[in-house]
Amino acid sequence: MPILSDYLGSKTEDTIRILDDLVRIQTSVPPGENYEKVIDYAAQKLKDLDFDIEKIFMPRELFEKKNPRLSHLRGDRVNLSAIKNTGAKKTLLINTHFDVVPASPNWSVPPFECTVKDGCIFGRGVADSKGGPAALFTVLLAMQELDIAPRYNLNIALTTDEEMGPYSGLCHLADLGKLKADYFLSMDGDSDDITIASNGNVDWQIDIFGKSYHSGSSFMGVNAIEKSIPVMNELMLLKEKVEMRRSKVPASMAVTQKTGIETLMPVLNINLMNAGVKQNIVPDRCTMKGDRRFVPEEKFEDIRNEFDSIMSNVRLKYPQIELKYSFDEIYAPMLTDMNHPWIKEVRNIASATAGRTVNLAGAQGSLDVAYAVKVTGLPACCFGIGRRTQSNAHADDENIKIDDLVMYTRFLATLMCG
Ligand SMILES: [Zn+2]
Repeated sequence: MPILSDYLGSKTEDTIRILDDLVRIQTSVPPGENYEKVIDYAAQKLKDLDFDIEKIFMPRELFEKKNPRLSHLRGDRVNLSAIKNTGAKKTLLINTHFDVVPASPNWSVPPFECTVKDGCIFGRGVADSKGGPAALFTVLLAMQELDIAPRYNLNIALTTDEEMGPYSGLCHLADLGKLKADYFLSMDGDSDDITIASNGNVDWQIDIFGKSYHSGSSFMGVNAIEKSIPVMNELMLLKEKVEMRRSKVPASMAVTQKTGIETLMPVLNINLMNAGVKQNIVPDRCTMKGDRRFVPEEKFEDIRNEFDSIMSNVRLKYPQIELKYSFDEIYAPMLTDMNHPWIKEVRNIASATAGRTVNLAGAQGSLDVAYAVKVTGLPACCFGIGRRTQSNAHADDENIKIDDLVMYTRFLATLMCG
């Protein structure tokens, strides 16, 4: 589509203006208070382009039931479903999220507006993930101006709460049956590689109980911190075993370049400990929390059994340790067949527009896209604008290259119009 591609070359200023509008609507979560403002902005843009618009509020009860740890967050949880039926045979689902992580005071530029400097655009969310919608709106408008129809019906899902989860707006839209399509592109990714797989995520918690006492006579109490040491040792043995495993899915370029690790791997971490009141009090409780990331080849039931058997061992070996634990799946893993024609198509177009070979890779982290894929069964992949090691997503001075933003408009144009 050379005409559209050339035309997009003259639209960079417009794309940056839209991106600036989006960045100025503060959608940081927590708390995520301005979702309706950003959804209204996007809804107006797509309405002007003749999409059928549906603003979808996640009911408060559902939000709190599915995200019990987020019930303190105020503000409506709003999402957008926009559909354009062109009479094409197949439907393309395009998604990303509008919520962003908060900005620290250490930015060198104002975080909630776009600053253009040294060929880059700085602002919270430019890479993760407001650049995608800005590019998409520009391409759709250009298509309208040039009277070019997409070769797919379009289902655009712009959602919120991806940065909090587990039950994000995208999960809700999946459960409502709003993600009907044949192919799925998530713009929530980077341009280093095309993400076709992700690890699943489990949150675990272990509580070890003791008996509080004056520490001068600590032998009269039971020290929950000291009792947690053999439990941690068992966990470290499990960690060693788990982290020997490797998936068949290639790791992202950034991971391989930095570490030499070539494929996805599972991990087990202890990430939080809470115990003790004061130096001279025997602690009566120690709470440990962590996560277990599992590769697409591992089954949740198997890794739960593995964890259960570690805990049974602890109980056998140390019957005097009183403990309870939980092991909850937060996100399922995702794996799309690397040989699926849709994946080949995205890869060819991404490589042609980026001017280099863009590889398929798995993400060590977990995605709400995985939930949507589990519900819909769609072939899915993620490809975005930012660069993993340079864009500072979730950090200070988040930025994207202007060239990458322009590349992305051409990528979307070719994907939608051929
Ligand atoms: Zn994101």
